[in-house]
Amino acid sequence: PNFTLLEQDITTPFDVPGEIDRILHFASPASPIDYLDLPIETLTVGSMGTYHCLELAKTKRARILFASTSEIYGDPLVHPQTEEYWGNVNPIGPRSVYDEAKRYSEALMMAYHRTFGVETRIVRIFNTYGPRMRPNDGRVVCTFINQALRKEPLTVFGEGQQTRSFCYVDDLVTGILGLMDSEETMPVNLGNPDEIPIIQFAREILELMKSSVAIDFRPLPQDDPKQRKPDISRAKRILNWEPRVSRKEGLRKTIEFFQDCSD
Ligand code: UDP
Repeated sequence: PNFTLLEQDITTPFDVPGEIDRILHFASPASPIDYLDLPIETLTVGSMGTYHCLELAKTKRARILFASTSEIYGDPLVHPQTEEYWGNVNPIGPRSVYDEAKRYSEALMMAYHRTFGVETRIVRIFNTYGPRMRPNDGRVVCTFINQALRKEPLTVFGEGQQTRSFCYVDDLVTGILGLMDSEETMPVNLGNPDEIPIIQFAREILELMKSSVAIDFRPLPQDDPKQRKPDISRAKRILNWEPRVSRKEGLRKTIEFFQDCSD
């Protein structure tokens, strides 16, 4: 297949000449520091942007996959998170610019599917990491690795008791391509269910890097979810998918990448 990366403002109407079979709508800042810095842009790309992508899919009779997020579950009261859970999102908190845009986009995807029969796919992506992230992306994996490389203390927010579950990028990509090829129109969680408290994650990275830098505890950001772990039963059943890369192996490759960058 021919893949085209569209470098185009999707928040205003646009056309793409020729036939299109498939659209992957991933447009949005995704790191908390980025979307907090770009609140209006995040809301616009996750509303008008999704609308214009769906119009394109309808006109071209293309299948469209939307990159949703575990953030739609907010600070979850159900653990692990299944796709049936409706979530616990603060609609006016700082993170709402991302969470509510993604929730609105899911609603719009389902409406286009039900109203016009557009072939829609929704992937709910949990924390993912790997080589080629930006060193200053702001997300915890690249932040900790790069702090250790610079011999600076690791900034752990709160007491680090909040949990996350980290998926290696190659596993995620395999799952996304599988979902695109499947007939599933309901949302599907993709992520690695191997859950870890952030403080323990910091120590694990220090151990892998043979680093002894200190841990610097910083205030916990507002509405930071206390726990997160995907229930991936649906992905297992429908896509025959589950992560293959362990955290240790994935971290090793990611650390190597950032070491090469800083050499
Ligand atoms: N975090 C941290 N120190 C950092 C960056 C993040 O302790 O320098 C924590 C953050 O509070 C959250 C977790 O690590 O609980 C994951 O944060 P990230 O920004 O990677 O993604 P999120 O899951 O919050 O979208």
